[in-house]
This record gives sequence, structure tokens and C-alpha cells, in this order.
Amino acid sequence: MDTHPTYTLADLASWSRPGITLAVLGYPIRHSISPAMHTAALARMAQENPVFADWRYVRFEVPPEDLPQALELLHAKHFRGINLTVPHKVLALTSDRVTSIDPSARPAGAINTLRWRTDGWEGFNTDGYGLREGLREDLSLELSGAHVVMLGAGGAARAAAVQCLQAGCASLNIANRTRANLDALLALLRPLAAPGQMLSGFAPDAPPKNLPSDSVVVNATSAGLKNTDALPIDPTKIPRPRAVYDMIYNPAETRLLATARVLGLPAANGLSMLVHQGARALEHWSGRSAPVATMREAARNALGLAPT
Ligand code: NAP
Repeated sequence: MDTHPTYTLADLASWSRPGITLAVLGYPIRHSISPAMHTAALARMAQENPVFADWRYVRFEVPPEDLPQALELLHAKHFRGINLTVPHKVLALTSDRVTSIDPSARPAGAINTLRWRTDGWEGFNTDGYGLREGLREDLSLELSGAHVVMLGAGGAARAAAVQCLQAGCASLNIANRTRANLDALLALLRPLAAPGQMLSGFAPDAPPKNLPSDSVVVNATSAGLKNTDALPIDPTKIPRPRAVYDMIYNPAETRLLATARVLGLPAANGLSMLVHQGARALEHWSGRSAPVATMREAARNALGLAPT
């Protein structure tokens, strides 16, 4: 059972906890396993260094209209770091309390990590890093030189696509249900593509014949969150991929992953991405390397999965 309390803006007004506090903000937020993951990490870090004994990670349910006030108050109360989840990742970029943005986060157009500085928050995006590490860990894949088929054109796809281009993928083919959203993403990505890096888009129900045959398929759509959802793409309708990675981790096995396994393709869900984006955020806040294995086990436990 998840025993982590959920706080609101009203709690923040009278917040007086001593020690270092970190928080995740979202709406809704009760489902988030970040408190379990970071609480376990901080306990592990405190075993090795007592300075972390008074660090805590809590969650706040903050509707989008309250985000500016929340960022103001959290800064005034000296929270050390913030994670942002749906729907705040893009919104936070426009906040005047976010006074600097890590150069590698800017092209992603979204930030998921804030670090306290005297003059305001410093913004980072660790999702792309999380994807890169997740592909390495679960599928032994490097983005450099890879052919990537990205499904989706929302915030997660955007951060992932930027990571693919910056990591030197050979080609990036993006499929999205709504053409206008796909075109907007392609327009944003075009200036980031290096000479010779192939970038194009297509409708998921009409894949082009010339897609590379050994591509890494990455699902960055929400299709699969419900087990009644249709496949975001039919893997039998594209040249045989090299592997399939689904950013969704709950449920642990989406229809896309189940289909990939039936086809004999290496396949993995997005839990590794979640763990690594969280670990990177903790490293930004603490200046120490994060206990990734501890975070993975805590995340699995919070999801009711067996230990690895
Ligand atoms: P978002 O900004 O709302 O974008 C949603 C995307 O999914 C859009 O491209 C949308 O297409 C597409 N979509 C939604 N429902 C669909 C359906 N039924 N069929 C086909 N396409 C559909 O969301 P997001 O923040 O990018 O998140 C996307 C997914 O990534 C979520 O499942 C989220 O949980 C996951 N995620 C995982 C991690 C991780 O650490 N593992 C991190 C971030 C996100 P349209 O443009 O046509 O609407």
C-alpha cells in the first residue's frame, strides 16, 4: 500500500518542515511512484552519507492554473528540487520563476526537473537521458547510428526525438495519429537534424514502404495505457524492427509489447526510462551518483512487480 501523503497548495502556505525537501508536482499525482522510488534512494544514500538523513521527497497535487503560485511558494520555502509531471512539463517553461534552462532541455520544449537557485529555478529535462539509458539497459541498444521509428508527437515523443537526433541516430521516422501535431513536431525538429540525418513523418495506418528494416520502434503515445486501446502501430505492417520499446510501464505488458514478443522481437517497457530520468534528477539535486538499483527495486515494488 502506498503510504506517501499527497499535499496541496494549501499545505504549502504553512509548510515548515526542517531539512532538505524535494517534491513532485502533477495533476493527478496520486498514481505517481516517484515518491516510493526517491524515498528508497534517499534512505540508501543516507546509509553512506548522513547528510542525506534529513532529505525527504513528497508529492503535491497542483492543478495547472496553480502552478505559478506553487513554484513561487516552493522556491520561497527553499525546496531543493522539483519533478514535474503531466500537465506541467511544458507550462513550467513559461513561468517567470524558472530563471534558467539547461541548454540541452531547451529544444525539447519541456522541463521535468527544477533545481533551486538563489534567483529562481533552473530547469532540466531528464526524459531523453532516461530513454537513452533505458534502451541501453534493457535492449543493449545505442541511439547513435540507429534507425528509430518514434510513435507519437506529444511531450514525451518530443524529448525522445530530440535525444535521438542529438545522439546521432541515422534516421528518425515519426508516426502520429493527428497529422497537424506530427507536422508541428517535424517543423520543430528539422533545424536539429544534422546533415545526412533522415527525418520524416507518416500516418501510423499507412507506413511507407521504404522504412528501414532494423529500426528501433519507440512508443511515446498513450495508446496502451488501457488494455482496450488499439495498437499504436501494427509491427507486422512495417519492415521487421530490431526491437520495440514502449514508454508505458503500467500496465507492464501493453498489446504492442505482447505483439512484439509473439514476433520474437526484443521488447521492453518504460520502467527503465522512468528510473533513469529520476536518477538523473536526483543527481542534479544532490551532486552525487544515484543508487539506480535501489530505485528500480522500489519502483517495481510500488507497481506490485516481483524483485529482479
Ligand atoms: P501527450 O503529450 O498527451 O501526448 C500523447 C500522444 O499520444 C500524442 O502523440 C497522441 O496523438 C497520442 N495518442 C493518445 N491516445 C492515442 C490513441 N488512442 N491512439 C494513438 N495515439 C494516441 O503525452 P506524453 O506526455 O507525451 O506521454 C505519452 C506516453 O508516454 C504516456 O503513456 C506516458 O505515460 C509515457 N511516458 C513515459 C515516461 C517514462 O518515464 N517511462 C515518461 C514520459 C511519458 P495525437 O497527437 O493524435 O493526439
